[in-house]
Amino acid sequence: MKQKKILVIEDEKAISDIIKFNLTKEGYTVETAYDGEEALNKVYSFKADLIILDIMLPKVDGFQICKKVRETLQTPILMLTAKEEEVDKVLGLELGADDYITKPFGMRELIARVKANMRRVDFVNDTITETKKMDFGNLSIDLNKYEVRKYNDVIELTLREFELLKYLAESENQVFTREKLLEEVWGYEYYGDIRTVDVTIRRLREKIEDDSSNPHYIMTKRGIGYYFRRP
Ligand code: CA
Repeated sequence: MKQKKILVIEDEKAISDIIKFNLTKEGYTVETAYDGEEALNKVYSFKADLIILDIMLPKVDGFQICKKVRETLQTPILMLTAKEEEVDKVLGLELGADDYITKPFGMRELIARVKANMRRVDFVNDTITETKKMDFGNLSIDLNKYEVRKYNDVIELTLREFELLKYLAESENQVFTREKLLEEVWGYEYYGDIRTVDVTIRRLREKIEDDSSNPHYIMTKRGIGYYFRRP
């Protein structure tokens, strides 16, 4: 049987180490992330079967990560909460976490929770295999695999490029201002420059368009912003 993968997102190295040690001993493949940014990258590259997520993290907190993950993935999330923070548990669950465990916790308890939530994964995987895929002629966007194909070849996109494309493609023909795109696609960590949007659009066009100066998918609405068009 294939080894199940667990992503541990926890900035306190001592806790992360002991979780990793114990879960590895149980036969899981464990990857760690120590801040929110690293975590979001690993969520999509490591493709864990389960995520253990601390709330207080540098850069991007656990709630934001949870929300972000749930936009595209159904991976079970086990949240680590501090003892007194009843409100954290509620918020975590509302944002799509599956379970939580209160610090300090014993390793046996953690392993029991991990196993219980893994069983649910097996159950869900056996019963439903839903694929979320968008097709636009020669271009297809697979939301489960985070994969874009053009003429059936996989195109390498960064996470941000993918999210921008997905956001535009989900609302065909709707024009978005650069401010709106910055807020929706970069939002949680970015208070920046709208030129970031132009730069990312340009890179995206270079990757998905046949001729990036004469685009057929990502269109410019002069003086306003951008929109996605089915060619
Ligand atoms: Ca922490």
